[in-house]
Amino acid sequence: MANSVSRLTALYGGTFDPIHYGHLKPVEALAKQVALQQVTIMPNNVPPHRPQPLANSQQRKAMVELAIAGKPLFRLDDRELQRETPSYTVETLEQLRVEIGAKQPLAFIVGQDSLLNLQRWHRWETLLTLCHLLVCQRPGYALSMDTPEEQQWLDKHQTTSVDELHSLPAGRIYLAPTPLYDISATAIRQRLEQHLACDDLLPPAVAEFIRQHQLYC
Ligand code: ATP
Repeated sequence: MANSVSRLTALYGGTFDPIHYGHLKPVEALAKQVALQQVTIMPNNVPPHRPQPLANSQQRKAMVELAIAGKPLFRLDDRELQRETPSYTVETLEQLRVEIGAKQPLAFIVGQDSLLNLQRWHRWETLLTLCHLLVCQRPGYALSMDTPEEQQWLDKHQTTSVDELHSLPAGRIYLAPTPLYDISATAIRQRLEQHLACDDLLPPAVAEFIRQHQLYC
C-alpha cells in the first residue's frame, strides 16, 4: 500500500434484519486482508428488490449499534434509514462521492449472493464508476457469474491487487478469500419463529434485544 494510513472508505449496506455473525465475521477478515481502517455499516430502509424487513428501522439500527459496540472497526451511518424513499445504493454512493470528492478510494462490500444478483440493481452499470466492490464469500453461492456476459464483466474488473483498491478511486472488483459462515437473517428469523436457539449465529446483545422486544416470533 502506498500510504501506511489508507483513505479507502468502505461501506457495507444491507437490511440487517437482524445483523448476524455472517455479516460481521467475513468483513472482519476482509478488513485484515485488504487493510481497511474502518467499515461503515449502512442499513437500508425500503430495499427496493426484496420483501420489507420485519423489524422496523429503529430496531434494526439499535441491533447494529449493539452488535458493533466495542468494535472500533465498525461505525454506523443511518442516512438511508432517515429517508422514506427506496434505498438505491447507486444514489447513496453518488451522494457520498459529492461529500468525499472524486479521487478518494471508495468501496462497497457485498456477499457473493449480492454480486451474483448485482445486474438487477438499479443503474448497476454506474456502480463501478463510483466505487470498488469487495466481495465476501458466502456458502451455497456459485463463484462464477450466471451468464457469459456477466462473467466477462467480472473478469474485466476483477483485481487481486490490494494496492489498486487503495490507489484508484473506483472500478475494481476484489473477490476476498474470507471464511465461510452459513448464516442468513432469513434462517435466523425462521429459527426464532420456531423458538429455536440462535446463540451461535449472532452477538449475545442482539439476541437479548430480540428477546426483549419479542421480535420475529
Ligand atoms: P436475508 O436472509 O434477510 O436475505 P441476509 O442474511 O442475506 O438477509 P442482508 O442484510 O440482506 O443479510 O445482507 C447484507 C449483506 O451481507 C449482503 O451483501 C449479503 O450478501 C451479505 N451477507 C449476509 N450474510 C452473509 C454471509 N453469511 N456470508 C457472507 N456475506 C453475507
